[in-house]
Amino acid sequence: MTLAIDGGAPVRTDPWPAWPPPLDDAQRRLVHDVLESGLWGATQGGSVCADLTAAVAAMSGVTYGVAVGNATLGLFAALKGLGVGPGDEVIVPAYTFVASATAVLLTGATPVIADVDPVHLHLSPGAVEAAMSPRTVAVMPVHLAGSPADMDALGAVASRAGLAVVEDAAQAHGAVYRGRPVGGLGHAGVYSFQSSKAMTAGEGGVVVCRDEAVHGSIWSVCNVGRTLGGRWYEHPGVGWNLRLTEIQAALLLPWLDRLPDEIARRERFCAALDLEGLPVTAVPQPEGTTVDSRHLLMLRLDPSVDKDFVLAAMAAEGVPLDAGYPPLGTMKTLTDAGARVEPAPAADEAAKHVVWVRQSMLMDDPSRARDITEALGKVIGGRG
Ligand SMILES: *Cc1c(COP(=O)(O)O)cnc(C)c1O
Repeated sequence: MTLAIDGGAPVRTDPWPAWPPPLDDAQRRLVHDVLESGLWGATQGGSVCADLTAAVAAMSGVTYGVAVGNATLGLFAALKGLGVGPGDEVIVPAYTFVASATAVLLTGATPVIADVDPVHLHLSPGAVEAAMSPRTVAVMPVHLAGSPADMDALGAVASRAGLAVVEDAAQAHGAVYRGRPVGGLGHAGVYSFQSSKAMTAGEGGVVVCRDEAVHGSIWSVCNVGRTLGGRWYEHPGVGWNLRLTEIQAALLLPWLDRLPDEIARRERFCAALDLEGLPVTAVPQPEGTTVDSRHLLMLRLDPSVDKDFVLAAMAAEGVPLDAGYPPLGTMKTLTDAGARVEPAPAADEAAKHVVWVRQSMLMDDPSRARDITEALGKVIGGRG
């Protein structure tokens, strides 16, 4: 069979589901109500941001939340609120989105880039231990692709060393680890609502936390240094306006109700993906996964397979896959900015051999998982 990249007929011609999914009636009503009210900002007396943060905190098993403009700023505010600043080090995984590290830079602290586990690609507890120095004050597990990180082991390392734990849950809305929701497992957790994420308002984020005093400091960082209940032009702390709008919150609050169904839908698609006989495996979940929210599905190609060719040929077949992250330690931007880089052979390996199936594709009918396996078989069998 001629590959589509060589002029043959593609496996799939109809489009994959669009992202974001169409608005539902509850979103339409709430956005409309906020628009008509004129209470668009979060400091005008509207209640949607407050309802959203309360609901996201509840989903995370904690009491407090602060809505922010995006998760990069949310991670910054969480770190800053926990006291991280210049001279400190924060350990981040080598296989994650660059913002996990640049959020650390925003505080003036140094990101320390440590390796991930070679099997499931989450921050490795052993690598964290090896990367620690007397300046290390915090660690940032990332719930990559919606799969909960190995929080028991990471939490044990962190608590032995007295490190703060900030969970980057930007990709993990609704994920659950050993029966407990992510986001609420560390000292603070951060969700993103940027346009590619599992819940989106175009941009946005929420920081959640368990402790009242931590909430107060994070809130202050995001509200120009004010204190909760304090006077308007009194700024006891240094802070910024990092707030979300009520209009964005109105897109997000009703979405929480359908999130479990969307996760279940993506899970069914993943379950239907039969890779038997192909030189490809799904990146497995760490032990302790109760719910993987399936933001993405990561596939590991056999080392004999040419990844660049597979990406190009799969796109031609109508099944576009993503190349995934370069290891953070290889980014000149980060090393120039002072990041400390630890050896990361597992992240290097992931960059060479791991590809991603996008969330919008996982939202299709599970029967369409066949398009992926058929195209993989054709492409890899053909020339990969
Ligand atoms: C998207 C993402 C971020 C940043 O979120 P923004 O809302 O775009 O700032 C941080 N970390 C991870 C792992 C992400 O996927």
